[in-house]
Amino acid sequence: MKAIVLEQVTKRFAGGVVAVDGVELTVDDGEFMVLVGPSGCGKTTLLRMIAGLEDVSDGTIKIGDRDVTDVAARDRDVAMVFQNYALYPHMTARQNLGYGIRMRKTPKGEINRRVGEVARMLGLDELLDRRPAALSGGQRQRVAMGRAIVREPAAFLMDEPLSNLDAKLRVDMRAQLARLHDRLGITTVYVTHDQVEAMTLGHRVAVMRDGRIQQVDEPQALYRVPANLFVGAFIGSPSMNLVEATLDGDTVSFAGHTIPLHRACRPARPSGDRVILGIRPEMFEDAAFAESGLPQFDVEVSVLEELGSDVHVIFPVEAPRVDVSEVRAAREGDEDVLAADEAMLFNARVDPRTRARRGSPLRLAVDPARLHFFDAETGESLVGA
Ligand code: ATP
Repeated sequence: MKAIVLEQVTKRFAGGVVAVDGVELTVDDGEFMVLVGPSGCGKTTLLRMIAGLEDVSDGTIKIGDRDVTDVAARDRDVAMVFQNYALYPHMTARQNLGYGIRMRKTPKGEINRRVGEVARMLGLDELLDRRPAALSGGQRQRVAMGRAIVREPAAFLMDEPLSNLDAKLRVDMRAQLARLHDRLGITTVYVTHDQVEAMTLGHRVAVMRDGRIQQVDEPQALYRVPANLFVGAFIGSPSMNLVEATLDGDTVSFAGHTIPLHRACRPARPSGDRVILGIRPEMFEDAAFAESGLPQFDVEVSVLEELGSDVHVIFPVEAPRVDVSEVRAAREGDEDVLAADEAMLFNARVDPRTRARRGSPLRLAVDPARLHFFDAETGESLVGA
């Protein structure tokens, strides 16, 4: 178990692509850190630099107290688990599990002991004599994970290890992985483009964009206090509703609606300024079930999604679309992603007792204490932590 410290780590590929740009990050001893961001933001490159599979253009990487920037991959004492976990097809699960430590000339008794222990831990005991072809996707993934654990490394580096599994299996494996980490406590850096996976697995999550870290924080802190528009839009499902709005004294207005500002989240901007207003779906409520005293406004319901425990009311907002296409593309596959050419739609999560009907008007209440405001030009959050 060791901390991983990245100081001003930069990667320039031939041809001028700056894949990673001055990254500062400390992964504490025993911590589970998730790197998340859209395709091409540099997360795999960063992980490969920590592993020693990619050289570093600038900056230093330390594992424990040792500067490993120029140390060969095999001497870094880290174990990687990839998306394509590449088990040896001609070897049994047992041989696959023991392969890494066999190559390191570990005594046979010790290999058997460690393989047995890891197999028990991962529920692979019964499968040890099978070859990969006779294992399910989830079982193969457990063997790949086991192969890394058997090595007893200082750190695990994982690159989208669950993304080849189907949705249900992915959720199961995620829970297993979290339990395993609790038990082993080995410093882990885990790369994913899936923000739900990041939020559920990470002790802390580092959100990346264009080679830079946008924010590093615990999942709930990222959700509640995003540092900028990108993080606000990227984290959370369904995603944050975003609209251009104008500050006017003690209120903020958008698309014909006016909401009073709350002292807890007042942007430090003069009246008349244009800002981006962000409202999470759960900040709305059907006015019939909302606390009294909250500001209310009327909308036209265009879609009703009844999910049992809650209901999502989708309604149009007559305002220019806020351009978060990069984020939308990254979240492709999420149910709540809307095509760019559609009318701007907001999503409100309301009490399941709602009488909202598609095509009918509905009065909504909104909690003004947890609105988000971002600079219309830079996207920086205007409400401090
Ligand atoms: P994904 O989720 O799609 O895997 P990523 O966030 O892991 O994306 P990287 O694979 O780290 O992103 O790539 C970061 C940037 O570096 C991209 O613009 C990519 O095209 C570029 N890149 C990656 N590898 C190389 C290489 N060997 N040569 C040149 N450019 C590269």
